[in-house]
Amino acid sequence: MRGIAQVPSYVVMQPTTLCNLDCAYCYLPFRSADRKMPVGVAGAVAEPVNRWAADGRFSVVWHGGEPLATGRDHLAALLAPFDPAVEHHVQTNATLVDDAWCEFFAAHQIRVSVSVDGPRERNGDRVTRGGRPAYDRIVRGIETLRRHGVGFSALCVVSDPAPGRAAELYRYFLDLGCDVLGINIEETEGTNTRANAHPAQQVVDFWAELVAAWRQDPRIHVREIEWSLRYTEAVLAGTADSLLPRQLDPIPTVAYDGSVVLLSPELAGFQDARHGDFSSGNVLATPLTEIIAGAASRTPWVAEFLDGVEACRATCPYFGFCGGAHAANRYFEHGRFDTTETDHCRNSKIRLLEGVLQHARDHQPSAV
Ligand code: SF4
Repeated sequence: MRGIAQVPSYVVMQPTTLCNLDCAYCYLPFRSADRKMPVGVAGAVAEPVNRWAADGRFSVVWHGGEPLATGRDHLAALLAPFDPAVEHHVQTNATLVDDAWCEFFAAHQIRVSVSVDGPRERNGDRVTRGGRPAYDRIVRGIETLRRHGVGFSALCVVSDPAPGRAAELYRYFLDLGCDVLGINIEETEGTNTRANAHPAQQVVDFWAELVAAWRQDPRIHVREIEWSLRYTEAVLAGTADSLLPRQLDPIPTVAYDGSVVLLSPELAGFQDARHGDFSSGNVLATPLTEIIAGAASRTPWVAEFLDGVEACRATCPYFGFCGGAHAANRYFEHGRFDTTETDHCRNSKIRLLEGVLQHARDHQPSAV
């Protein structure tokens, strides 16, 4: 895997900067401001996206702010330039989901992913702009999705991977009825400066416990477990070298104003003395295809990041699993992109794989 691919596998779009919640760990800088994406930005992005979707599966992920805070009429106008072959996803806090939104999701065939951190007592960081707990509103939105038969994924932030937590979370998400679960150990990035270092064995045990819970009732696709199993199977089959894509997925994030940040949505909206606003161009001035093609040569931080990926390849035994990604985590933890290990990659790559392997070692069939 070297360099950046010319065609992404998906595009992230920010229909509004606004979020109606104010979660303690949120990384978004302008979440109290309602800056909506003009329809012209969506039109400019749709032009290459429609071609990519005609050649194979392609997704647009609407990710705010809170995308539902955009309002149905404006979101419909932003969706209009995209061909029916394009798959649309929203990442939502679910608090605004009502009957009308469920009908909207069905009419536009939008796949829904809900951010919820487990049972009520694990959602203490999820609060409204007035500082009140948001959990009841999140659950009300999820119940509305279920009543309408709208399938959904769940994304869970774990701030404290304590013993017993993984089993508790897995039981919760089984009851919640999601089909896919992603677990993010909280990250130090953007406006969230809280530390995310944890004792190594505690995090390994968290992932091992999650695998054990999943194996007892594997009804949910758990994103991290599936990544790990795919990698370990490839290692055992001797095909691990072909598992990583040949080039990094550029993952363009198109901010509300049309500016494009590659590789890490979390960098959008930030400024740096060396790197400015991290943007590689604006779709209102330059086609997205040209922005991606020129990224490594014209965006100095991207070139610095590619040096960091090469440093990972040269030094890290987990590179074949991880691919050395996570530009924003490098920047927000180290202030540079050409570093290697971060607390994020320790928590979510290294200790994840160690946890899966620990589970496998602890549950080997005994010799007869
Ligand atoms: S686990 Fe960390 S150090 Fe290793 S390749 Fe990934 S980002 Fe680089």
